[in-house]
Amino acid sequence: MSKIRYEAIQESYNREKIADRHEGRRSEFFGSHVFNESRMRQFLTKEAFESVKGAMNSGNKIDRKMADQVAEGMKSWAISMGATHYTHWFQPLTGATAEKHDAFFDMDYDGRALEKFGGGQLVQQEPDASSFPSGGIRNTFEARGYTAWDPTSPAFLYGDTLCIPTIFVAYTGEALDNKAPLLRALSAVDEAATAVAKYFDKNVSKVTATLGWEQEYFLVDKALANSRPDLLLTGRTLVGHLAAKGQQLDDHYFGVIPKRALEFMKSLELECMKLGIPVKTRHNEVAPNQFELAPVFEEANLAVDHNLLLMDVMDKVADRHNFKVLFHEKPFAGINGSGKHNNWSLATDTGTNLLSPGSTPMKNLQFLTFFVNTIKAVDSYEELLRSSIASASNDHRLGANEAPPAILSIFIGTQLSAVLDELEGVSQGKLSPEEKTELKLNVVGKIPDVLLDNTDRNRTSPFAFTGNKFEMRGVGSKSSCARPMTILNMIMAKQLRLFKKEVDSLIKKKKLKKDEAIFNVLREYIKSSKRIRFDGDGYSEEWEKEAERRKLSNNKTTPAALEVLTRQETLDLFDEIGVMSETEVRARHEVELETYIFQIQIEGRVFTELVYNNIIPSAVEYQNKLIRNVTGLKEIYGAAHKKVTEGQLEIIEKIGEHITELKKHTDAMTDARRRANTMEDIHKKADAYCNTVRGYFDDIRYHSDRLERIIEDKSWSLAKYRELLFTR
Ligand code: ADP
Ligand code: MG
Repeated sequence: MSKIRYEAIQESYNREKIADRHEGRRSEFFGSHVFNESRMRQFLTKEAFESVKGAMNSGNKIDRKMADQVAEGMKSWAISMGATHYTHWFQPLTGATAEKHDAFFDMDYDGRALEKFGGGQLVQQEPDASSFPSGGIRNTFEARGYTAWDPTSPAFLYGDTLCIPTIFVAYTGEALDNKAPLLRALSAVDEAATAVAKYFDKNVSKVTATLGWEQEYFLVDKALANSRPDLLLTGRTLVGHLAAKGQQLDDHYFGVIPKRALEFMKSLELECMKLGIPVKTRHNEVAPNQFELAPVFEEANLAVDHNLLLMDVMDKVADRHNFKVLFHEKPFAGINGSGKHNNWSLATDTGTNLLSPGSTPMKNLQFLTFFVNTIKAVDSYEELLRSSIASASNDHRLGANEAPPAILSIFIGTQLSAVLDELEGVSQGKLSPEEKTELKLNVVGKIPDVLLDNTDRNRTSPFAFTGNKFEMRGVGSKSSCARPMTILNMIMAKQLRLFKKEVDSLIKKKKLKKDEAIFNVLREYIKSSKRIRFDGDGYSEEWEKEAERRKLSNNKTTPAALEVLTRQETLDLFDEIGVMSETEVRARHEVELETYIFQIQIEGRVFTELVYNNIIPSAVEYQNKLIRNVTGLKEIYGAAHKKVTEGQLEIIEKIGEHITELKKHTDAMTDARRRANTMEDIHKKADAYCNTVRGYFDDIRYHSDRLERIIEDKSWSLAKYRELLFTR
């Protein structure tokens, strides 16, 4: 057996259990590494504390003098916790996070060392921005970028570094990150939703979007993962014959968590607790060695930050436990992929979940208003929402085993469908007293009891209502929630603005009562957004055909899905809601395409390496063994050798055929890649990678997997699916 595979297997078998323990209850050390409200009270002057609170709650500016005070308090706290460095923690368009550490340490004029960190350093920094993608913004504007403090997400201590969440913008104002547009979208939805919520409760003065993500991932033994060049460089297995036992038995889901994985989870949860990430549930997922982790939901911006931080913490903790975490959406072909369901809702500062049915007809009318507006928003902008989850890796998952398809649709269940059907029949204009009573008592009034027994929850709908929130399920496990959250909250803001305008106009011009006006507008929305509602299950050919009839988009590849970003109506929408300028949108489109090209390019290169350095040599090694055997038998049996060598000869031939095919497809792919690389236009290049280069991958894989099946185990140099998936 190849030495590296053999050693990796040995190493994975001999792992010692690593267990972290922590004294004390979780609630006691939750957030111990966060500069949260109680620490702010302790380390800040009252004035400085009020100023940060004002910035958090109402977006007020913090002046320089206050910033100096806040910085001083933050520094004292961080140093008391053992920090030596600080960094602006930001989210460049790579989708990950970035940081540049500076020491608190400084020298005064006569050479004495001191610990320095002032308001200036807290509020703004200038990272060397040239290495981050900007989609041409910096080239066009010759602008440098800077990071600026986001006081709505608290600073935290990570290792020995004080991390300050920041946005990353060009000096000309364009956002160079994922956080700035998200904050703009959240502020827009706050404004629009507050205005609508006031129809029902005058005391509402702020609405926050809430997000609870569910992170799925695979855990693979570190040595085994590192022994596979494809896992190491692309995050997924490019080849690999399905193990004899896959997930058919369904014995993993909610089964007993394997011991080593459980120890990893415990360590991880300890770290999360300190960092204030409110993780709550852990369980096995459907595939072997696949798991899920979910927190208690939080305000969306904070939840996005926490998910990004979590992924980083997971990498580090896993390494200590001799695991590699696979965040890729489809690390193994033929086995469930990983997603990151985004549970989303809107909550008022008066403590109401706007997507939660209430106990009175008025509360339920409020629920229906936000519920129907969400449906309408998704219907109007389904293609844009689809674009927000597009990536090379997620393309593999959407539409495959147990994952939602690339077509967006909404699942609301039979009971709520019945309610909407009733509302569709509401009279035009003024309502008779009888109709009003009927609506209040029997339609709107009935919602809460109805929901409780609504158990037929569809697990693969891309956008499902689950009792008191919507769950967006197409989001990829690897990606930041920032993109989908930006789009979802933006389209919701747009929709709610429209709704408010229509209702107000009915009240004013048609002299309708408020609830009559609301019923009238909702009725029209229910009628016009019907095509987006689909309670069927996941992917099927019939649904694909039906979706086409309904004129729903079905963009299966990233370049196709991103197209919508360049349409004038999209650019106008981003501009109208104040989320991004045309330059910013176009820049993002370019960055996404670049990333796409880059990923397929790497996969192509790794394929070539695997084929020439691993697969063909393994095949030849075994083929030679057979040839030696046949030659030997010939010597013994002479002309009569046929009856004892027939099988071997057949295998020798089969191997030869597969090698020929493998080489043919790999070389053709390499040529296609070279041609694509000469293309200047990024759209054409992305199309070439998508439609030509990628097209060879399946054939290469097919022949490799056939070879894996017939070649003796010992000669195969790549760790097999059974080793990757069943070593615990
Ligand atoms: P599941 O979807 O697996 O059945 P739950 O219904 O308990 O699980 O919730 C899953 C996720 O939804 C959790 O992360 C939870 O915090 C989140 N969630 C619950 N309520 C809300 C809400 N109002 N807004 C956003 N997320 C929520
Ligand atoms: Mg869920």
